[in-house]
Amino acid sequence: MQKFLGYCCSICKTEYAFSQLIYTCPKDGGNLDVVMDTVSIRKRYEISDIISRNDSSLWRYLPLLPVEDPGGEGTPLRTAGFTPLYSPRQLQENLGLRELWIKDEGRNPTASFKDRASAIVVGRAREIQAELIVTASTGNAGAALAGMTAAVGQKSVIFAPRTAPVAKVAQLLVFGAQVILVDGNYDAAFDLTVKAAEEFGWYCRNTGYNPFTVEGKKTASFEIWEAIMTGGTKYQKPLCVFVSVGDGNIISGIHKGFKDLLALGWIEQMPRLFGVQAEGSAAIANAFFSNNEEIFPVAANTIADSISVDLPRDGVRAVRAVTQTGGSYEVVSDQEILNSIVALGKVGIFAEPAGAAAYAGLEKAILGGRISSDDPVVVINTGSGLKDVRAATSAVKNAPIIEPSMKALRDLLLK
Ligand SMILES: *Cc1c(COP(=O)(O)O)cnc(C)c1O
Ligand SMILES: [Zn+2]
Repeated sequence: MQKFLGYCCSICKTEYAFSQLIYTCPKDGGNLDVVMDTVSIRKRYEISDIISRNDSSLWRYLPLLPVEDPGGEGTPLRTAGFTPLYSPRQLQENLGLRELWIKDEGRNPTASFKDRASAIVVGRAREIQAELIVTASTGNAGAALAGMTAAVGQKSVIFAPRTAPVAKVAQLLVFGAQVILVDGNYDAAFDLTVKAAEEFGWYCRNTGYNPFTVEGKKTASFEIWEAIMTGGTKYQKPLCVFVSVGDGNIISGIHKGFKDLLALGWIEQMPRLFGVQAEGSAAIANAFFSNNEEIFPVAANTIADSISVDLPRDGVRAVRAVTQTGGSYEVVSDQEILNSIVALGKVGIFAEPAGAAAYAGLEKAILGGRISSDDPVVVINTGSGLKDVRAATSAVKNAPIIEPSMKALRDLLLK
């Protein structure tokens, strides 16, 4: 069954047929939305058909995704998504909130949110019989694509800036992707990838370019919905979801997921979305605060490499995700991000800087009165702290080194 009708440009609304191999709108470069056939999905499925599926991965939502079953049983491709949702009492009390959840995307197969997008793009690539998939990445998108392609024996080429954290580059290499480090930033790698895909006929996964990444990312909303909104507990106020923003594709995906659910009539109220950017990489927040959809590039500089972007590739939809849901943008400093790594660590959650940024944004929103104690809040940690051990180390004090003797230990402890 064809579950999607085609593509629609997010800027000029031109529609494109589903059979086309197309990335962004040829007229204006706008990001394309995949248009789901919600009418026929609604006819065929009820909520209970979805949430009773026996599949602990994002593939449990296959009926709501624009791809067919990609196969790959028994591989990491089939275990992407369905990440834990914690409710740490200690943080809830510290923040003075009644309801707080943290969704830990570091628990994906390659340890970041990007596995969701790469899983769906690999599914799509198999359908269109693409031989090779290429992506530009600051690290995580590449690791996810390399991991998901390795899982099913497909070829991938990854372009990353030469400054990408070593753990991420190690993942790319271990997964056996062809890795090309670019002597330039992410934006330079992005442009090169698009040209290479054109010239060599490769299928391009680039974030904010390939329309299917959002379709993978929307599965996080389905999981939040299933865990929190189908349980019968009625919350007085809409759910508030905090997520960090670089290119703006994750927040657009989360928005898309809830929009699909709204179109299906499976939720009554749209959650409020809060985007969090680093002070040194805030192009989308800048546009939001100037009431403008036009995105002006910045010279990005932040410790949170996964959200360090000069020119966001999904900025327009990322601004709308917040304006259309009554949320806001929050801008946080590198020091606040490091403090949040420590705060999350204290409840057993190890976040990379970009993941911790979302929590820092929640603290800002509470201080600024944009979130109050009775708002139910979900914070998404987008990536594991093991991705960037150097940043983690800089957030904490060094451990003392002692002689292996009881005297030295007493001296230390009784000091
Ligand atoms: C990619 C990424 C983000 C930001 O996602 P965008 O779609 O670029 O906004 C945030 N955190 C982590 C860990 C990421 O890998
Ligand atoms: Zn257009």
